Amino acid sequence: MSDKIIPYGKQHITDADIKAVVETLQSDFLTQGPKIKEFEEAFASYVGAKYAVAVANGTAALHLNCLALNVQPSDKVITTPITFAASANCIRYCGGEVVFADIDPDTYLLDINKVRELLKASPKGTFKGIIPVDFAGRAVDLEAFRNLAAEYGLWIIEDSCHSPGGYSINSKGEKQNCGNGNYADLAIFSFHPVKHIAAGEGGMITTNDQELYKKLLMLRTHGITKDEASYENPVEFAGGETSYPAWYMEMQELGYNYRLTDFQAALGLSQLQRADDGLARRREIAEKYFNAFKGKSYIKNQSGIIDGHAYHLYVIEVEDRLGLYNYLRENKIFAQIHYIPTHLMPYYKSFGWKEGDMPKAESYYKNCISLPMFPTLTEEEQEFIINKITEYYNG
Ligand SMILES: *Cc1c(COP(=O)(O)O)cnc(C)c1O
Repeated sequence: MSDKIIPYGKQHITDADIKAVVETLQSDFLTQGPKIKEFEEAFASYVGAKYAVAVANGTAALHLNCLALNVQPSDKVITTPITFAASANCIRYCGGEVVFADIDPDTYLLDINKVRELLKASPKGTFKGIIPVDFAGRAVDLEAFRNLAAEYGLWIIEDSCHSPGGYSINSKGEKQNCGNGNYADLAIFSFHPVKHIAAGEGGMITTNDQELYKKLLMLRTHGITKDEASYENPVEFAGGETSYPAWYMEMQELGYNYRLTDFQAALGLSQLQRADDGLARRREIAEKYFNAFKGKSYIKNQSGIIDGHAYHLYVIEVEDRLGLYNYLRENKIFAQIHYIPTHLMPYYKSFGWKEGDMPKAESYYKNCISLPMFPTLTEEEQEFIINKITEYYNG
């Protein structure tokens, strides 16, 4: 093949994307303009949620969610160890305590039975919430998590960074889009270039809860509100009309500047128009990998063909993972490992987490490797990848 590196994930920028960004750069608003609302409305409609709040990145989205849900120091929140560290870190930003529960080795998702065991083993009220992750793009069964959460009075944040366009099927046979807010209180997405929709940096929160929505809008901009109802001192204008001056912005709470810019929103919006094409292509790539590796002795498990899977990643579990990783790298195929289990990160080890605490996640981590997966991966490139893997194991 060529000497071009094949990464595990990559953005796709079209002329239409560039045009959308340039138009916004030439408009009156670089930030706090109309593109934000447009992107929010289009995104909410895409996932089927009532409200969407665009923010600076997925991590900011998680942080704002924890603030809006009022996570307090030493509040215990449960999440999975197989995710990007931010899914856990947001709890720490508020001083809360991260409690990991192991994954289901077949789905790679947070194992609801492990969560149930944790909840049962402690007095009610010990835990405040759960952050399940649609890891690799596979939708969590949120209906089941909602039923469990209802029993214990917990909130749910769905980390949907891997799954825009993904869905699960509920017990009534209805399609439930990731981030639609029917079971989770809040959901979050990221627009980092390796994710489905690229905006440079960027994030989105979706919800069906109007109160949380309003709170998020305020926290995104310094905790400042222009909501007239909150002002104590209306001004009487000539003619006896009582109103509030436009400069009157009150800071209600300690908020942040977690806004997205308008030119990023324009890029995200333009990318969103092609999201379904990207999903379809990802599915094709997944099918090709699946068929190539099905029944092979060196494959312990793989992502598989799952309806509603958004295929942010295609994971295979193999013997001698490091050897394969290095061999692919020598061939300019930059596969990736997702993820070092969060509980084994030095930061979380400092809280007492250790090797052996999450056996399923740790065993997964020893074998997993994410193969290149992005819509512009060519057929030839994918064949090259498959051939190199086959060659590595068959000599
Ligand atoms: C990417 C990602 C995040 C963080 O998003 P950023 O936009 O990079 O801050 C959080 N959770 C998961 C699962 C992610 O993949």
